[in-house]
Amino acid sequence: MPANKEKASAELVLAGALVLDADGRLLEGPHDIVIRGGKIAAVRPAGSDVARGNSGASGGPQAPEVVDCSGCVVTPGLVILHTHAPMVLFRGFAEDMSIDDWFNKRIWPYESRLTPDHIEAGARLAVVEMVEHGVTAFADHYFEADRIADVVLDTGIRADLAPTVFGLGEGFAERADAAAELIARRRDDDPRLTFRMGPHAPYTCPPPAMEHIVRRARELGVGLHLHVSETRAQVEESRRREGRTPFAAVAAAGGFELPVIVAHGLWVEEEDLTLVGPDTWFAVSPKTYLKLAMGEGSLWRLWGDPRLRVAAGTDGAASSNTLNPLEQVRLWALLGKHASGRADRFTLEDAWRVLMSGHRAFGRGTGAVQPGWEADLVVWDLEQPNTAPVHDVLAAIIYSADARNVRDVLVSGRFLKRDFKVVAVDVAEALRQVEEAARAVVARGPGRATVTY
Ligand SMILES: [Zn+2]
Repeated sequence: MPANKEKASAELVLAGALVLDADGRLLEGPHDIVIRGGKIAAVRPAGSDVARGNSGASGGPQAPEVVDCSGCVVTPGLVILHTHAPMVLFRGFAEDMSIDDWFNKRIWPYESRLTPDHIEAGARLAVVEMVEHGVTAFADHYFEADRIADVVLDTGIRADLAPTVFGLGEGFAERADAAAELIARRRDDDPRLTFRMGPHAPYTCPPPAMEHIVRRARELGVGLHLHVSETRAQVEESRRREGRTPFAAVAAAGGFELPVIVAHGLWVEEEDLTLVGPDTWFAVSPKTYLKLAMGEGSLWRLWGDPRLRVAAGTDGAASSNTLNPLEQVRLWALLGKHASGRADRFTLEDAWRVLMSGHRAFGRGTGAVQPGWEADLVVWDLEQPNTAPVHDVLAAIIYSADARNVRDVLVSGRFLKRDFKVVAVDVAEALRQVEEAARAVVARGPGRATVTY
């Protein structure tokens, strides 16, 4: 029995909405958005001929379901291009400590004791939180991707899952092959579910491991999702050990010939940008960089280089505490202004593009409020105390809005959040399961991590 009991209507009309598209421009006047078979069938000036339900090809006698969106703004959904969804289990569990202690004393030892049930519970609550914030798609990087895939199918959200592989120690080839087998087995489950190979990072996947994983990805015809050059120390260590940057290590293994999600890339160097491919996307999570004191990096300095394609990530809630891409993009813009000393740079339009570009990385026909595109949409209510009055819709969303303003969330025309309430998941049950899982994980105590940071 799927958790999300909402059925997509044969025909649904979001009526009388202002439409803000991925380019950050508002359509003139209110519009009706007609959704049929999960896709946007028409976007037309409000009030045309909605009530007659005569909008064409389906031709059925059924009147369309009309949802009043007057006074609201409809946009494409938000995308998280890098997270570790199950890590909500460790929200607030490793605070005010160095990145070394964060990994070595807290996260990796405790993570090593997680069970598949814990991971599934974490992933389900993560979906609740994401949907609250208007997220319609997320790219995940974690273990037990089978169980996360179950949650994706069950809830109705869209996801790209990268079963994570550490390339150190015994049996890396078997682990990589198991990840490839999972992808081959589940890739046709549902169009909402896609996969990539997920090597953890160059510093945990030495060249033979990285080459093996890239080979598997190429055989499957999928991309990669991995951490690269997160800290200055990682870049220095890579230079010392291999005489090249982490980006160069990925390139040497042929990685950038594939579509790639680079988690963070905070310390990318200018010459690294000559190595990345046309389908390489940087998923940035400034809240994590600030909390873990990872330094100023180069992303803001290199901003504007067309080879640096930036999208919003959140990282896991163990480091970022929230799964809210809007908060990340807000910090991204503020840090850019601060670092450059230029208040007129890192504009609202730039921030909106960063928020929307995850759709292009996904490449699944989402990310536009136009006929033919998937109906992965958010209905924003900005007539609320935290956002009113709305002089500028983009400013209201980028700098003021939060989950309170997210009225409805749809993926392929099906509601995941409706009238301010998440309907994709039994929220009380998801909370209960996560509380139980988190208690069990802490009670078990730390295990022995296979890697050290
Ligand atoms: Zn990460």
